Amino acid sequence: SLTTTRTLNNGTKIPAIGLGVYKVEAGDEAYQSVKSALEIGYRHIDTASFYANEEDVGKAIKDSGIPREDIFVTTKVWNDEQGYEEAKAAIDRSLDRLGMEYVDLYLIHWPVPGKFTETWKALEEIYQSGKAKAIGVSNFLPHHLEELLQAAETKPMVNQIELHPQLQQDETRTFCQEHNILIEAWAPLGKASYFDHPVLQELAEKHQKTPAQIIVRWQYQSGIITIPKSVHKHRQEENVDIFDFELETEDMDKMTGMNEEKRLGKHPDEFD
Ligand code: NAD
Repeated sequence: SLTTTRTLNNGTKIPAIGLGVYKVEAGDEAYQSVKSALEIGYRHIDTASFYANEEDVGKAIKDSGIPREDIFVTTKVWNDEQGYEEAKAAIDRSLDRLGMEYVDLYLIHWPVPGKFTETWKALEEIYQSGKAKAIGVSNFLPHHLEELLQAAETKPMVNQIELHPQLQQDETRTFCQEHNILIEAWAPLGKASYFDHPVLQELAEKHQKTPAQIIVRWQYQSGIITIPKSVHKHRQEENVDIFDFELETEDMDKMTGMNEEKRLGKHPDEFD
């Protein structure tokens, strides 16, 4: 169910499915999208300093009346906030905007070259201080993780990467599995850009589900944390209505076969 959790390498529990709020407009749109998701039963929200909607996320959570400890909140340190002192200031600004004492997960948004190991030092302190219950990275390839792990005292608990049927990221997934770093999928639905793919159509027909539900179920069964985004309540409901069916081995194999290593977003060595 929506309360199913996975366990991070420090013992922290993270709900397997969350709501993403990238490009959700600050103000009413962000507030309403979090409010409706919480009503449906979502207990995991993925925001970022860069998304400029932390205030609305925090307000919707507070107004929901749901105890803070029952909701898993992730935010991220943006590229221009990286560096040791900078990141320590950045978490305080994020917490201030969220109106919270802590976040459940704080991530380095992108591996800014020459900066991310210093940023990680700050995240380790943030973790020690209790301002983040878990820390991790995003958009890290194995070579970034190698560099980070050499300097790190605390291992990242999560790596949030672009991951959907046409970009399955086997190398990064294997590396993370070996290091006990949990994978989270961003753009998990492939931004809804290929729902007409024959495999998705076939499996949707077979299970009487939608392509979005087939994808979320595939991620769920693969042990990957997924954070599909929608601002519409009926789609938020649709995206998590995946607990009444199961993909069989042959279905999972067909999903594996969809991989084209095709990125929709930036390559982690080429972002700016
Ligand atoms: P996504 O794959 O979740 O696709 C979202 C889009 O798909 C929506 O805007 C909507 O148009 C459409 N959609 C959603 N549900 C649908 C449904 N049931 N039927 C039809 N269309 C539907 O893409 P995303 O928003 O880019 O990624 C999800 C979340 O991942 C973000 O909101 C954000 O929290 C996170 N993210 C992180 C990074 C990063 O660098 N760490 C980058 C991008 C996104």
